[in-house]
Amino acid sequence: MADLITIEEAQRLVLERARRLTAERVPIERAYGRVLAEPAVATCDLPPFCSSAMDGFAVRSNDTAAAPVTLPVRERVAAGAPPPRALAPGEAIGIATGAVVPEGADAVVPLELVTETDAGIEIGAAVASGANVRPRAGDAAAGSVVLQAGATLGAAQVGALAAAGVSEVQCARRPRVGILVTGSELRPPGEPLGPGEIHESNGLMLAALLTSAGAVPAQLGTVADDLDEHRVAMERALLGFDMLVTSGGASVGPHDLVRSVQAALGVAEVFWGVAVKPGKPVAFGVRRDHLVFSLPGNPVSVLVGFELFVRPAINALLGAIEPLPAFAWGRLAEPATRNELRDEFLRARIERGATGVTLVRGGGQESHMIVAAGQADALVHVPRGAGELAAGSDARYLPLR
Ligand code: AMP
Ligand code: MG
Repeated sequence: MADLITIEEAQRLVLERARRLTAERVPIERAYGRVLAEPAVATCDLPPFCSSAMDGFAVRSNDTAAAPVTLPVRERVAAGAPPPRALAPGEAIGIATGAVVPEGADAVVPLELVTETDAGIEIGAAVASGANVRPRAGDAAAGSVVLQAGATLGAAQVGALAAAGVSEVQCARRPRVGILVTGSELRPPGEPLGPGEIHESNGLMLAALLTSAGAVPAQLGTVADDLDEHRVAMERALLGFDMLVTSGGASVGPHDLVRSVQAALGVAEVFWGVAVKPGKPVAFGVRRDHLVFSLPGNPVSVLVGFELFVRPAINALLGAIEPLPAFAWGRLAEPATRNELRDEFLRARIERGATGVTLVRGGGQESHMIVAAGQADALVHVPRGAGELAAGSDARYLPLR
């Protein structure tokens, strides 16, 4: 692993090969978290009619110019029904929030600003034309684009689609991702451990990470460090999925078989070895459209490798506009020694204060320490180079989810 490539170079090589998957129709009830493959277009004006923004009285603003004035109240309009008639000069119509502003009215005086008397409503001050009136199509016009292709549908976006009369959207289908875990020492969680054995944790962690990224994970089991077992499992894992993620066996030891077995099965390796700590011996290859990530076995390396390379690939398969990790900024609580050759990701807790986010180093920073990582909220980026980052310096971090 003489020539480590940079994280940015590795991400570029991945994204070059991660094309958006075919689109499918998705009803908006199931669209939360999906990514639009086509722009979504409003099927109606929003609001669909000129409506009141307040509970109050629809008036002609001209009639209030000489305020204080008293106007008789002729009708009351609730939301959901058209007004029975137009507003005549010199009168008011009671109106609810969201009700249709009657023809002839150009303003709504809120309830709180009038005094109701036997003669009608007394308005203390003149109201401006358009006050408390929501114009038709003020939010979106029928035929206009509500959300662009590549938009990720969060709660507000699903609400926007529903409001604009969109009942189904085109989204890239979710990537199907096989998870293959390697290591003769691994026992399923909950089983008693024999000598030299540890509990398998990467498979579950990867399934959770993939689900959070919008993919559909499939557990393909755990294979021992045995050539035949690797061959059989890997061959199956390369069929019927969009992506394969393996853990373990990607390094240089005599029991690290993943890369050689993949090569024999026609996976063309794109890179192996990235200047990152933890997670250096990460490999990426392709077989036709199938993307293959071979992550190291140490759980924290899996976490880092996933966030830097696998999640962006999933985002790209989903057609997201910005597939690369979304870093946030905080301030280091303690100094951090830089690694000369590799960009490092430290596990830290996020402390929010009046002046922003402080990143407090969690417990152990070694790549097998998944419990320490589980107590952290962030992966803090310490760029490679000489010296150290002083306490208080600004640092980028990826929130852990
Ligand atoms: P490897 O990359 O296969 O050399 O594994 C590196 C370290 O990670 C070893 O200590 C393994 O026991 C450990 N390890 C590998 N796979 C897993 C797993 N699925 N869950 C937990 N630890 C693992
Ligand atoms: Mg191993």
